[in-house]
Amino acid sequence: MATPLQPVRGTRDLIGEEFRRHHAVIEAARRVSALYGFEEWSTPIFEDTRVFSRGLGDTSDVVSKEMYTFTDRGGDSITLRPEATAGLCRALVSNGLAQSNLPRKVFYTGPMFRYERPQKGRYRQFHQIDIEVLGAAEPLADAEVIACGWQVLQELGVAEGVVLEINTLGDTESRDRYRAALVAYFSDHRDALSEDSRMRLEKNPLRILDSKDEGDRRLVAGAPTIGDHLTPEAARFYDSVLAYLGRFGVPFRQNDRIVRGLDYYSHTAFEFVTDRLGAQGTVMGGGRYNGLVEEMGGPSTPSVGWAAGIERLAMLLAAPPAAPRPVAVIPVSEAEEGAALALVQRLRAAGVVTEIAYKGNLKRRMERANKLHARAALILGESEVAQGVVQLRDLDAGTQDSVTLDEAVRRLTA
Ligand code: ATP
Ligand code: MG
Repeated sequence: MATPLQPVRGTRDLIGEEFRRHHAVIEAARRVSALYGFEEWSTPIFEDTRVFSRGLGDTSDVVSKEMYTFTDRGGDSITLRPEATAGLCRALVSNGLAQSNLPRKVFYTGPMFRYERPQKGRYRQFHQIDIEVLGAAEPLADAEVIACGWQVLQELGVAEGVVLEINTLGDTESRDRYRAALVAYFSDHRDALSEDSRMRLEKNPLRILDSKDEGDRRLVAGAPTIGDHLTPEAARFYDSVLAYLGRFGVPFRQNDRIVRGLDYYSHTAFEFVTDRLGAQGTVMGGGRYNGLVEEMGGPSTPSVGWAAGIERLAMLLAAPPAAPRPVAVIPVSEAEEGAALALVQRLRAAGVVTEIAYKGNLKRRMERANKLHARAALILGESEVAQGVVQLRDLDAGTQDSVTLDEAVRRLTA
């Protein structure tokens, strides 16, 4: 026999309980986001590389080191999307939706791809749920987006032990001032910086705040904070977001070290974090990005959103969602198979999860029903078919009744 093939490093199969956990996260996010007026979109898994990599200024790890980029047979540079936001902004512009009817409130779910070092909670193909309000400059939008995320976490039953950490990155003027302060500070400690961060110092010193290097983190602890560099407008915007969060009843903790992993954020930046997942503690992250749609060739379209890792949320779910328990229909002999199939289809049409074994005698079929953890068995023998009844056995209680087909359907749909 040939050596069995393995999934590619950093990718996983979702089977049984794993899939049900995954699905529960998506369903909760889909339901809750719909309550807030979000509509679901689907965009391609691969895009023109320029959708994600916009010029030399991009210094985030995601774009500079982690992208799955390849040249296709036609010679075009293609990238497997590492995130949803850029593709959604591209779609807004490509579909001519950027000019009117704003804001657009979009829910998204699907696989994302990043060439990272695989570990618990960190994969090369992972999945996100994501919401974006495209085309809203008001702080109420930031707060509503966050409130929606908080409700998703609550409905999943994982909110306990999860904290919202929030920060502002200010407007362009605030950030320019802050940047100068950071350059001054880190230049004084240049020799103690990691090699990566010395590069960041040239290109995007804010990125140093997000460094995972131990030595960098010690320096970051003493670095200037943005608070002292905010313009009055940026400070007012941030205060307003925080006030609205209060109205939505979302608890938060201010953390002036949050900068987020992608370069396009301004004003609000936030993460929902937990200490229950070890190093991979960020379950949901997002913020405001006011220039991205313009970079896709659209008009100025201030926007705000978040993305959450489904794998990390799925790990936090307490009880795995139960698989539905079927009803097993059991013909006593081949002669009753026709009547049994008619009953099977009638039950399925009525919304009852129903199984019929493909073969086997009564005993084998009962064993199969138990293996499937069936809640009831419907047994059809010659005399039952002749009288238009069925033996309904409750497999939990162990009781059995002869009932009409109508009565059987009625009981099983009750
Ligand atoms: P981290 O700091 O954990 O690398 P990030 O800042 O790169 O996260 P985002 O780009 O904001 O993450 O993506 C939003 C969410 O997607 C993260 O909070 C996390 O839950 C999830 N996520 C990101 N990268 C991965 C990955 N490689 N595997 C699994 N989940 C991931
Ligand atoms: Mg990352």
